Amino acid sequence: MTLSIDFSIPETRAALGARARAPEKLSLIGMSRDEMADALGVAGVPERQRRMRVQQLWHWLYVRGVSDFSQMFNVSKDLRAALDQHFTIARPEIVEEQISNDGTRKWLFRFPPRGAGRPVEIETVYIPEEGRGTLCISSQVGCTLTCSFCHTGTQKLVRNLTAEEILTQLMTARDRLGDFPDRDTPDGAIVPAEGRRITNIVMMGMGEPLYNFEEVKKALLIASDGDGLSLSKRRITLSTSGVVPEIFRTGDEIGVMLAISLHAVRDDLRDMLVPINKKYPLKELIDACRNYPGLSNARRITFEYVMLKDVNDSIADAKDLVRLLKGVPAKINLIPFNPWPGTNYQCSDWETIEKFADYINQAGYASPIRTPRGRDILAACGQLKSDSERMRKTDRLALEAMMIAGHGEA
Ligand code: SAH
Ligand code: SF4
Repeated sequence: MTLSIDFSIPETRAALGARARAPEKLSLIGMSRDEMADALGVAGVPERQRRMRVQQLWHWLYVRGVSDFSQMFNVSKDLRAALDQHFTIARPEIVEEQISNDGTRKWLFRFPPRGAGRPVEIETVYIPEEGRGTLCISSQVGCTLTCSFCHTGTQKLVRNLTAEEILTQLMTARDRLGDFPDRDTPDGAIVPAEGRRITNIVMMGMGEPLYNFEEVKKALLIASDGDGLSLSKRRITLSTSGVVPEIFRTGDEIGVMLAISLHAVRDDLRDMLVPINKKYPLKELIDACRNYPGLSNARRITFEYVMLKDVNDSIADAKDLVRLLKGVPAKINLIPFNPWPGTNYQCSDWETIEKFADYINQAGYASPIRTPRGRDILAACGQLKSDSERMRKTDRLALEAMMIAGHGEA
């Protein structure tokens, strides 16, 4: 099957009705309950009322999904005005929304400058599947790491995202997908968990989440808070290239599922593909995985393995992979390489990927091959790159040609 390249027409900013977030105000989104209580003090709320107000605000923000204080019907007008004067709860600007012909959606969000910086843009992707929908969230603008097969890796790190910016990717996607209740009525029905379109989140967008540990932790603790956004921690996966010192903390302090971008089973090759391996080689990485808090056969680590033609796709590699992971409760996720203009890598042939998967399956590992999604809108893994270095039209055409030549078939 040849993938049809039908770039959807991006919706314009005006059509999306985005209300840009004011840069000068602090956002209440992303604050812990204690921080929010302190913030309410700044807005003049007496101490004895703060806990109750925090509870109210938490519900409005994370259950009802309001993005304007005026929609908080049970908060007095005076307090709403005081909150509005000091704080914001607005979403980022939606610069672009693209919908792939397979239903995948990609948003380009713009966040206001922090301090003396400039506005930044990042991408977030929604992938609908049978029985579930996954939102792929970014943690940084660009990346300091330079994995040789990753498009984001060619872009310098601009800055870390804040907890607010990580959470508003989820909240804005929920707005656009209708996962929040109708906000214009005080009693708009709450969308039950089983009716929501976003059921899972993965920290697999732009950036290395464990190089932005504190903000990612804050955001994920709020995303999984049972009185708010209520995503189960088992439905949140954090993917790391292998920042060993933060792996234990991820399980201990955040408690979400872990994915490791493995991609190679020998140090010499992994040094080239995932250069952080020079700092934290395979043995240290696998030891950290064995010690991951909560690890069991019911809670396995996912090992991601990008299939690169004639680089890491032989049966000898598959054998070494099985040997390396011996005794670690693991799932292996084979990712067909997604090409981008300027890359020297090619995706392995389909037959090779299937043979590799069969070998691993026979060794007792679940090894799904990740179907590339949203390739026509450049939404697949490793293709995200922010607007600061937006793809030129000539590059898009080059990519289109590469995909038609065969890489886009899967
Ligand atoms: N920085 C984190 C998370 C973001 S990348 C990490 O590296 O784990 C999410 C996944 O996409 C990683 O497994 C990454 O190695 C993979 N990836 C990157 N570029 C890719 C490409 N061009 N094709 C397929 N997968 C890619
Ligand atoms: Fe950064 Fe992950 Fe891409 Fe490596 S694969 S460059 S860690 S985003």
